[in-house]
Amino acid sequence: SKGEGRGTYRFFEAAMHARLRERKAMQADLRAALRTGAFTLQYQPQFSLAGDCVVGAEALIRWHHAVRGIILPEAFIPLTEETGLIIPIGDWVLREACRQAATWPPGLRVAVNVSPVQFREAAFVERVQQALLASGLEPGRLELEVTEGILLTDTDETLVTLGRLRTLGVSLAMDDFGTGYSSLGYLLKFRFDKIKIDRSFVHELAKGGDAAAIVSAVVALCHSLGIRSNAEGVEDALEEALLREQGCEEIQGYHIGRPMPADQIDAFFARRAAV
Ligand code: C2E
Ligand code: CA
Ligand code: CA
Ligand code: CA
Repeated sequence: SKGEGRGTYRFFEAAMHARLRERKAMQADLRAALRTGAFTLQYQPQFSLAGDCVVGAEALIRWHHAVRGIILPEAFIPLTEETGLIIPIGDWVLREACRQAATWPPGLRVAVNVSPVQFREAAFVERVQQALLASGLEPGRLELEVTEGILLTDTDETLVTLGRLRTLGVSLAMDDFGTGYSSLGYLLKFRFDKIKIDRSFVHELAKGGDAAAIVSAVVALCHSLGIRSNAEGVEDALEEALLREQGCEEIQGYHIGRPMPADQIDAFFARRAAV
């Protein structure tokens, strides 16, 4: 009936307003978080199968919320991308990761995730340069992880930015490979230093079939192009063994180490170096 329809409408309207309010509140919280230092970085080790050694770590942001506790990036990064807050937050991540990595044993690399919104900002390359200068980190020890999302718009500009980053001497990794839109064409247009095979493929590996075929094709492609391959989300010895068999160069995942606070990654490096 008419009355019911109006009730439904009111219900949706109320739900929508509640959602908007929640987003506004979260936006304000995020702004405050940047001011009060409520973000931290955790680091997840990256292990070279080829060299049988730890080669670095990926920086992963965490938000310490006064009421909600630790909030994972997937719950707040999208909102920061919509509002532009990812620019100052991403800049903080870059600086903090470089600052901490500069204290690590020489040669170890730090990988930093870069949002497409951040990547497209005009000042991005200068921000990277500033983070390197301020920390004294050698450019070759910084690896920027981008997703295929950067390739969606303005390809020419994207290629120019990638070229300028390459000139700085930083390493460039294609993240979540295989989950995006484009892939091969772009991959050949710009030579990344590393390809990270998404964990959805890694988990399917043990079952054989398509995922295994895709992983071995990507690994073979990396070999022939001289690109390093990294498999993400490796959770057990079987997955490690299968990736080793495939000739994959690097692995990352709970099997090697979970993301951990900065002081723990220091200890992790020290322990691994001692063996
Ligand atoms: P990602 O770049 O693909 O990062 C890997 C995610 O997989 C991390 O989740 C990590 O904790 C998780 N992971 C690692 N090993 C395993 C494993 O063996 N099994 C399983 N099931 N998961 C594993 P996290 O830290 O929640 O980050 C999620 C995503 O948020 C990241 O995906 C990345 O896209 C984004 N992100 C994280 N930090 C930043 C940042 O500083 N800036 C930007 N723009 N994005 C970030
Ligand atoms: Ca990543
Ligand atoms: Ca990834
Ligand atoms: Ca991801």
